Amino acid sequence: MSPSRFLVSIAFLAIAGSFTAVGAADADDWHDWIDAETERLYDDVVEWRRHFHRNPELSNREFETAAYIADFLRGLDMEVTTGVAHTGVIGVLEGGRPGPVVGLRADMDALPVPSRVGLPFSPDVTSEFLGDEVPVSHACGHDAHMAMLMGVARMMAERRDELPGTIKFIFQPAEEGAPPGEEGGAELMVAEGVLKNPDVDVVFGQHIWSPAPADMIGYRPGGMLAASDRFVITINGKQTHGSTPWTGVDPIAVAAQMIIGLNMIVSRQTELTKDAAVISVGRVRAGVRNNIIPESAELIGTIRTLDTDMQDKIHADIRRTVEHVALSFGATAEVDIQRGYPVTFNDPDLTEAMRPTLERVGGGRTRVMDAITGAEDFSFFANEVPGLYIAVGASPADLGPGEAAPHHTPDFRIEESAMKTGVRALANLTIDYMLAADGD
Ligand SMILES: [Zn+2]
Ligand SMILES: [Zn+2]
Repeated sequence: MSPSRFLVSIAFLAIAGSFTAVGAADADDWHDWIDAETERLYDDVVEWRRHFHRNPELSNREFETAAYIADFLRGLDMEVTTGVAHTGVIGVLEGGRPGPVVGLRADMDALPVPSRVGLPFSPDVTSEFLGDEVPVSHACGHDAHMAMLMGVARMMAERRDELPGTIKFIFQPAEEGAPPGEEGGAELMVAEGVLKNPDVDVVFGQHIWSPAPADMIGYRPGGMLAASDRFVITINGKQTHGSTPWTGVDPIAVAAQMIIGLNMIVSRQTELTKDAAVISVGRVRAGVRNNIIPESAELIGTIRTLDTDMQDKIHADIRRTVEHVALSFGATAEVDIQRGYPVTFNDPDLTEAMRPTLERVGGGRTRVMDAITGAEDFSFFANEVPGLYIAVGASPADLGPGEAAPHHTPDFRIEESAMKTGVRALANLTIDYMLAADGD
C-alpha cells in the first residue's frame, strides 16, 4: 500500500464514521461558508463562463483560454504552471494546515459546431479544423466547467490559511480529442506528471449535463462512462466476375456474416446483467460495380464497455469471430483494435465515502444514474488515483423533460444557475475529504 493509498483509506474510515464534535462544528462552518460564497461569487462565475462561451477554442488550441485562467490563478497568489500537455494550466493552492492533496479537474476545449442559440454572448468565431475553416462553440459545456472551477479556486484561496490540505486545480486541454497526429488531453497530462509533486491523493471532476433536470447531481459507483475503442477489419477474398462467384471468394458475403457475428457478441456472449456494452459497425466499404466481386472489404466500428475485464473479453471475442468467419468462407481477415479513452471508473470506496456529501449538496436531487456509453478522458486521472466523476443536470428551465438539445449540437444550451450546484459540489467534496483525513 503506497503512502497516498494509506491516506485515502484513513480518509474513507473517517468519512464513513461520524465527525467528532469539534470536527462537526468545523464541517458545518465550512459548509455554510461555501453556500454563502457560492451565492456571493455567482455573478463572477456567470461572467467567466460567458467570457469563455464568447471565445471558444478548439482542442490543443486553447491559447487565450489558458492565458485567461493562468492570469486569474496568479491573481489568487497561486503557484501556476502553464504549457502542460500543450495548453493546460495547473494551479496549486497549499493550505495552511497539513492534509491530503485533492485534484480538481475542468476541461477547456470547444468543438467545431456552430451555435444557433442566439444569446447576447453567443460566439462568432471560426477556426481551422482538418483543413477547413469551421464555426466553433462550447457545445459540450466545458466553458461552465472552467468557470465553476475558478469559483472554487477564488473561494478556497480566501481561506487558504485554514485549509487542511492542498488543492491542485487542473485545467485540461483537448478532452474532445487532440487533432489527428497530435497528442493531448488527460493522457498526456498524466504522462507529463500532473499527478506528481505534490502527489495527488484523490481526483474529482464533473460534467454539466443538459439532458438532466437543472441541479440534479448524478453519480454512479464503478463504470460511469464507457471505454471507447475503434476497430478496423479488413477482409481479403478473391476477386472474380459477378456471374461466377464460385471462381472467387466473395468478401462482401463474408462481411455480411461477420456483421451478424459481431452483433452476436454483445447479445449472446456478454454478461449483460453485469454492465452494458455496445459494438457498432459504422462503415462498410467494398466493391466498385454490379458485376464484379471485389478483392477486399473493410468494416470500421466502435466498441463501448463499462468494465475493463468485459472490454478485454469483447476484444478477444471480436478477434475470434473475425478470424473464424473468414476461415469458414476460405477468406482471411485482419482486425486492428485501437484503444481510446478507458472506462471512467468511480472508485467504489471513495464514491461510498462521498455519497453523504453529494446527497447533502443535492438536497433530494442526487441520483444514482444510468451509465453513459459516451467516453471521457477523466478516466486517465482516475486510473492513477481514486477518482469520482459526477454529472450536474442543467436542462434549461423553459424546456420540458427530454426537450433539451443534446451536447455537441448547435442548439445546445444550459441553465446557468446549475453552476451553483457544480461549485458547491466540488467545494464540498474537497472540504469533506480533507476534514475526514484531518480528523485522524
Ligand atoms: Zn463533449
Ligand atoms: Zn464534455
